[in-house]
Amino acid sequence: MDERLVDLMALAGSTRGFMPPDEGMALHRHASEVAVDGPFLEVGSYCGKSAVYLGSAAESRGRVLYSVDHHQGSEENQPGWEWHEPDLVDSATGRIDTLPTFRRTIQEAALEATVVAVVGDSPVVAASWATPLALLFIDGGHGAEPAHADYEGWVPHLCRGGTLLIHDVFPDPADGGRPPFEIYGRAMGSGAFTEVDAVGSLRALCRTGEGI
Ligand code: SAH
Ligand code: MG
Repeated sequence: MDERLVDLMALAGSTRGFMPPDEGMALHRHASEVAVDGPFLEVGSYCGKSAVYLGSAAESRGRVLYSVDHHQGSEENQPGWEWHEPDLVDSATGRIDTLPTFRRTIQEAALEATVVAVVGDSPVVAASWATPLALLFIDGGHGAEPAHADYEGWVPHLCRGGTLLIHDVFPDPADGGRPPFEIYGRAMGSGAFTEVDAVGSLRALCRTGEGI
């Protein structure tokens, strides 16, 4: 690894968020090895942790990473839920706002030329998206509705030969919620994907066929 990459991996490791180091390194590796042309897109920016793992690879491959989030937190990030972080609440609105922290992370990583924040509701952005993607990382809302909407809205934009990464896939319900596992199951059941890797709750698939 060159010096910049060492620095970026350290920064990603210390950025707040929901991505264990081994899974983050796997994200980075799959993004570095992407096989087809086109930009990368992630759903679920939060504070920029996965954006640094993926963005560092995008930079070295000369790609752009679009990072989609409304920055108002998922259900499980809201007050009273398990994954709430009170200092991310905007005192003016009383609502979570992770955009300032995300922006700081990308500035600190000097990845502004590579990582483009797309601030909005994922299905709204997906509905008018038109650019074929080389890599798609799904790590947005984990409820049934948002997870399936992300699958239906974004997976059709992934190129043949492109890489689909899904986070928080837990085969055992005791380990976590079902929807990410269900969309992983939809991808595998479609016949259009081949699994290439599994690290922790991260699954990496290659789009090898058509109909999703
Ligand atoms: N990838 C991040 C973690 C993402 S947490 C990391 O590495 O740490 C999930 C994110 O999905 C939250 O920031 C939340 O705001 C976002 N999210 C949930 N539902 C969404 C929706 N419908 N549209 C856009 N973003 C959404
Ligand atoms: Mg996650």
